[in-house]
Amino acid sequence: MNVLVCGGAGYIGSHTVYKLIEKGHNVIVADSLVTGHKTAVHNDALLFEGDLRDEDFMDRLFSENRIDAVIDFAAFSLVGESVQNPLKYYENNVYGTLKLLQAMVKAGVDKIVFSSTAAVYGEPENNIILESDKTFPTNPYGETKLAVEKILKWSDRAYGIKFAALRYFNAAGAHISGKIGEDHSPETHLIPIIIQTAAGKRDKLYIFGDDYPTKDGTCIRDYIHVTDLADAHIKALEKLVRTNESGIYNLGNGKGFSVKEVVDAVKKVTGKDFPVEIKERRPGDPSSLIASSKKAMEELGWTPKYNTLDKIIETAVKWHIDNPKGYR
Ligand code: NAD
Ligand code: UDP
Repeated sequence: MNVLVCGGAGYIGSHTVYKLIEKGHNVIVADSLVTGHKTAVHNDALLFEGDLRDEDFMDRLFSENRIDAVIDFAAFSLVGESVQNPLKYYENNVYGTLKLLQAMVKAGVDKIVFSSTAAVYGEPENNIILESDKTFPTNPYGETKLAVEKILKWSDRAYGIKFAALRYFNAAGAHISGKIGEDHSPETHLIPIIIQTAAGKRDKLYIFGDDYPTKDGTCIRDYIHVTDLADAHIKALEKLVRTNESGIYNLGNGKGFSVKEVVDAVKKVTGKDFPVEIKERRPGDPSSLIASSKKAMEELGWTPKYNTLDKIIETAVKWHIDNPKGYR
């Protein structure tokens, strides 16, 4: 297939591009490089540098290339920043995807896999979250992703655009080759920050709140390896082609780890100790997010391979050791 990957120069997008190429697909990447990296894009993919909100750019993209399906990663995704600056998030995440969908309708492209998030659930009603649970985001980032899910639902009905919305839990880890990995600037995600602290690049690790209603008071998250996420995108695309049916799927390992447990796991994998300090809560953080991925397993035939926290951290540590300055 000819697959357009929007945001394919970013963390999860670049891993999905590697997987698509491994499976023999032709890949076109559209990315503004606002947070992505040119060198993260696989050599066999064609990179078009531009913004989804730029209508001329999108028209050129769709008229110059034969595109069978789209995978859309392009968005801003920092919970804290979205609370500080919600308009920035609505502008890029909602309007950007809207422009993409308009370009798809114009060009007659009718399949899309969309990056949604566990943040659509907000403070969950159940310990293990099902796709049918209530969605009530606690931050603007989650709201923008939920808004797009709704736009997709109505676009399916009106224009026949079939979609898979993949609600990832916490993406982590890096490609097994050590060639691509997580390099956000500034970095805000827990695992890379702990690894940077273990490597002596930060003085100490700050834990945002230890008064949550969890086993040790720190937030619980379900960490899922980026290569397993990449695999789920291919399987979601294959299912769209096979069944022509839209769907929403959680993607996680189904196991929750507290911030303190993740700190201990990185200390164990790296053999390094470092200071840890408790700070106030970060606004917008739900206390616990753990996925039921039963639906993705049954309907997509997806099984995560990196199913322990240690395996996930080991690949992230390898990436940081092989690339101490990230892509720079
Ligand atoms: P990332 O920032 O590394 O990648 C996003 C990519 O999109 C970047 O390459 C960026 O340059 C590009 N981009 C952003 N806005 C654009 C625009 N308007 N036009 C063109 N390109 C644009 O982020 P990531 O961590 O790889 O996340 C990818 C997607 O997955 C995002 O939509 C995010 O919301 C979602 N998600 C991420 C996580 C996680 O843990 N990282 C969890 C759940 C959902
Ligand atoms: N976190 C932390 N210290 C940090 C970074 C993150 O305590 O330096 C916590 C954060 O408050 C959240 C969890 O780690 O409870 C995971 O945060 P991350 O930003 O990695 O992912 P999110 O769950 O926000 O998508």
